[in-house]
Amino acid sequence: MSKPVVRRSTHQVQIDHLNVGSDAPVLVQSMTNTDTADAVGTAEQVKQLADAGSEMVRITVNSPEAAAKVAEIRSRLNDMGCNTPLVGDFHFNGERLLQEFPDCARALSKYRINPGNVGKGAKGDEKFAYMIRTAAEHNKAVRIGVNWGSLDQSLAKRMMDANLALAEPQPPEVVMKEALIVSALESAQKARDLGLPENKIILSCKVSAVQDLIEVYRDLGSRCRYPLHLGLTEAGMGSKGIVASSAALAVLLQEGIGDTIRISLTPEPGASRTQEVVVAQELLQTMGLRSFTPLVTACPGCGRTTSTVFQELARDIQHYLRTQMPVWRLQYPGVENLNVAVMGCVVNGPGESKLADIGISLPGTGETPVAPVYVDGERAVTLKGDNMAAEFLALVENYVAANYGE
Ligand code: SF4
Repeated sequence: MSKPVVRRSTHQVQIDHLNVGSDAPVLVQSMTNTDTADAVGTAEQVKQLADAGSEMVRITVNSPEAAAKVAEIRSRLNDMGCNTPLVGDFHFNGERLLQEFPDCARALSKYRINPGNVGKGAKGDEKFAYMIRTAAEHNKAVRIGVNWGSLDQSLAKRMMDANLALAEPQPPEVVMKEALIVSALESAQKARDLGLPENKIILSCKVSAVQDLIEVYRDLGSRCRYPLHLGLTEAGMGSKGIVASSAALAVLLQEGIGDTIRISLTPEPGASRTQEVVVAQELLQTMGLRSFTPLVTACPGCGRTTSTVFQELARDIQHYLRTQMPVWRLQYPGVENLNVAVMGCVVNGPGESKLADIGISLPGTGETPVAPVYVDGERAVTLKGDNMAAEFLALVENYVAANYGE
């Protein structure tokens, strides 16, 4: 039995029906890429992301046309039975939009404010204050989201100048990382001075390099008790984005740092936005932090699996389990903890199948064309013929009904 991860102790922030921080589960977030002014399209994408498992969804609120539709998006989601909290992403003109569209201010569950994009000097302070006071008035949480690509330049200059005045200046990249953290902490303090309670504040400091992200969050986490939202910004496409995000976030999560996560993937043109949600869930589940969907243990295959039956069955089972989950979650409590094994031959097949709740060891090249199925560690039945895949799916379904049904 591995040792459980000890989570960093934080203030706990409530966002609608969800708790964020300390011992509350690490939550999965995502963000739409629709034009928020398109209320129908945005509500549909939020629903897709929520159905895939996103527990909060951020939408950009960048124009009067977008802000005007936020309340409608909320109401459409409610009509679809989707209560996933909506987070409004504000840059440059957030105070104006919140002022002109009070329905938007009320409909959102949380505001994301980027201190680097609020504005400079007294004008910027006023705009920040307006947004914070609006959040406090409506009892909304705020994420102060600092980003390497839009760091508050006046703060960066002030810290660089102070560094140059030192007898032994730090390398510029060290000062810049410190500036990210100072920006988040100073903005949080300003928000508290303006009347936003500490249990309404979440912080993030996103950068795009793995080692920098780990360093920044370790430091930030040791200097405050706000919950932290983790994400490697601009992680990239495909396997590069998945590997880079997982590498960075896994190290931090293992140290108990991180209360919400987003895997920021650049989708392939036309690909579903839900991939980032699936990756975030799989990261948390494979680390043993949460359970979302039954896990499929499958071997990589080798020269002993020359037919495609094995790969097809592993793919079909994975797909089947994931698509069943919206219904199964309600019908079969605890089914997300199910372990299924799909193995390619007799070398490791029986061993791994016995360790799973239900597993199949398919026949490799040159083996007798039969597939023993193991249930709760015991050989239960042997499948043969061309219909093994469908028969195994039926056995999985029966196992779920018998073990998780009421
Ligand atoms: Fe190859 Fe068999 Fe090992 Fe799968 S279990 S990788 S098919 S030897």
